[in-house]
Amino acid sequence: MKVYFIGAGPGDPELLTIKAKKVLEKAEIVIYAGSLVNPEILDYAPQAEVYNSAGMTLEEVLGKMEEASEKDQTVARVHTGDPSIYGALQEQIDYLKEVGIAYQIIPGVSSFLAAAAAVEREFTLPDVSQTVIVTRLEGRTPVPEKERLHKLAKHNTSLAIFLSVHMISDVVEELKEEYPIKTPIAVVQKASWSDERVVQGQLSNIVEQVKTAEITKTAMILVGDFLDSDYQHSKLYDKNFSHQFRQAEE
Ligand code: SAH
Repeated sequence: MKVYFIGAGPGDPELLTIKAKKVLEKAEIVIYAGSLVNPEILDYAPQAEVYNSAGMTLEEVLGKMEEASEKDQTVARVHTGDPSIYGALQEQIDYLKEVGIAYQIIPGVSSFLAAAAAVEREFTLPDVSQTVIVTRLEGRTPVPEKERLHKLAKHNTSLAIFLSVHMISDVVEELKEEYPIKTPIAVVQKASWSDERVVQGQLSNIVEQVKTAEITKTAMILVGDFLDSDYQHSKLYDKNFSHQFRQAEE
C-alpha cells in the first residue's frame, strides 16, 4: 500500500507523465483536486473509488488515506500541475510520515511551463534574463514581507505569477515601480486546455485587456523582456565554442 502524490499537469490529459498514468491505472482510491485537475484523467482509473478534494478538509483527505492504508489500498492523490508548487503538499506528507504510511511523489508539468509553451517563448534568454521567479500576490495565504512583488521586481527577471489574475491591477502597480512601462506581459488562461486563451500586451495596457477578455481565474501572468526582445544566441550551439560534447569548428 502506498499513497502516490501525482502532478496531473496543467490540463491536457496527455501532459500526465507515464509514471503518473501507471499509478492511476492501478489505484483503488483517487483523491483529486477537482477545482483545477482535468476530470478526463479519471478515465485512466475507471476501477477506482473517486473523491474530489475540493469539498474536503485536510483532515478528511488524510482520513481517507488512513482508511485506505488499513485496507491495504493504493491511493492516487492528484494535484494540478506539479504538487510542489502551491499544492498544500507538505502538510499531507508530513502527516503520513508521522503515522507511518508509505508515500511517493511523482512530479508533473507545472502550469507556468505550459504557459511559456503557449506563448512560444523561452524564460532564460542569454543577456535578457537567466532567472525565473515563481511567485504570487498575497491572498488568504500570506506572502513574506521580503517577497513583496515590487521587491522581487527589482531584478527585472522573467516572472511567472500564479493565483493573482483577479488582482491584475495590483500586480501591475507593483511591477511598474521597477519594470519599464513597456515591459511585455502575457496572461495565459487554461494553458494546454482546449479552451486556452492568451492575452498579450505591455504593463501600460494589460489591465484593460484582461478586463475586456473577462479573465478572472485559472490564469498565469508572465512578465519580462523574454516575451519579446533581442537576445544573444546560446553558447551551447555556437559553432565557435567547444564543450564537453562538441568541438568548435576550425
Ligand atoms: N500546482 C499547480 C499550481 C496550483 S495553484 C501548478 O504547478 O501549476 C493554482 C494556480 O495555478 C491558478 O490560480 C493559476 O494561476 C495556475 N494555473 C493552474 N493551471 C493553469 C493553467 N492550465 N493555465 C494557467 N494557469 C494555471
